Amino acid sequence: LQLEAVKFEKMEIVSHLAASISHEVRNPLTAVIGFLQLIGENERTNEKSKAYAMYAIEEASRASDIINDYLTFAKPHINVECLMNIDSEIKKCQDILRPLTLKQNVDIDTFFQHEGSIKGDPHKFHQVLLNIFKNSIEAMPDGGILTIQTFENHAQIQIKITDTGYGMKPEHIARLGEPYFSLKGQKGTGLGMMVVYRIVESMKGTVTVTSEVDIGTSITLSFPSFS
Ligand code: ADP
Ligand code: MG
Repeated sequence: LQLEAVKFEKMEIVSHLAASISHEVRNPLTAVIGFLQLIGENERTNEKSKAYAMYAIEEASRASDIINDYLTFAKPHINVECLMNIDSEIKKCQDILRPLTLKQNVDIDTFFQHEGSIKGDPHKFHQVLLNIFKNSIEAMPDGGILTIQTFENHAQIQIKITDTGYGMKPEHIARLGEPYFSLKGQKGTGLGMMVVYRIVESMKGTVTVTSEVDIGTSITLSFPSFS
């Protein structure tokens, strides 16, 4: 119980900090990346400088990833709640991630058993799906299968996302959603799952995780059905 309280307090602090800085930092960062791209693409830029520009873009993009994660849940936003068809929202996110799945040799299998609707902000719901899909894809560096199922169960709509990745130990499952918990070193922000938990909670949904090392991970989202 005490651990939970610490977790919650940490989340509150992170969220306040984020709200105040994210807006101010995002726009200049986008401009920086844009200009670096122009420098990198310029014919007169020599090879060495092109490489420097590329490194700078990578680093700035990483900063931008962090800001994007923050922005979504901390954004002081006008509530755009609406009914969403989960299947089509899932398909949109699948399209966004297509370059990544191709690059990582990941196949996506979808089984949509239910044309269900849930209530929420589509932008935030996308963030939830994208963060979960991205983790699954990242957990399969040598390729694998990402299975997405939707079904209705006792007036709840469920989305089950299963990967054939490296899986998680029980003590790591327990830490999911804790700000900055990441086993990816420089490549991780440790913010993705925190954002997932926050948004799903705000949509009156739940997140259930099962995972086995070297076998894979299954994440089930459950939301009240509005169909
Ligand atoms: P990040 O992806 O930036 O590390 P997340 O909050 O998205 O941060 O995830 C936290 C950690 O949880 C990851 O670093 C990873 O160790 C673990 N994790 C999350 N999803 C999966 C998954 N599908 N398979 C294996 N490990 C996972
Ligand atoms: Mg992640």
